[in-house]
Amino acid sequence: MNIALIAHDTKKELMVQFCIAYCGILCHHDLVATGTTGNLVSEATGLKITCQMSGQSGGDQQISARIDCNEIDLVLFFRDAVSTKEDDPNDLEMLRLCDKNNIPVATNIATAEVLIHGLERGDLDWRNIVNPRK
Ligand code: PGA
Repeated sequence: MNIALIAHDTKKELMVQFCIAYCGILCHHDLVATGTTGNLVSEATGLKITCQMSGQSGGDQQISARIDCNEIDLVLFFRDAVSTKEDDPNDLEMLRLCDKNNIPVATNIATAEVLIHGLERGDLDWRNIVNPRK
């Protein structure tokens, strides 16, 4: 599966801890991330991650484009719902594209835990039919 990782600044440490905890599952998948998130996770875990540009430089839009091409099977997007006063249009667009393409997306760690266990159990294997690997 292709898994996208994105974390707002206040959630980056949480993403790192999540990826350390679930490294044994994540290592069986292809990971892509926005630049800063990806570098932090890869340094902390040793996971191989394709890092896009930083979010500020358009990395989230690069991931959104892949989502819209149905190239991403699961999105873990840890959002800062407290200090972000207004939703960034790019963030909302990413979530819209997940809905458009029926892609499972977690915007907080509670949902991410459920999805990662589902991933481990094979609950998301139907994505292989939607998005067969070449
Ligand atoms: P970053 O991007 O991982 O490069 O910080 C995430 C974001 O847009 O907040």
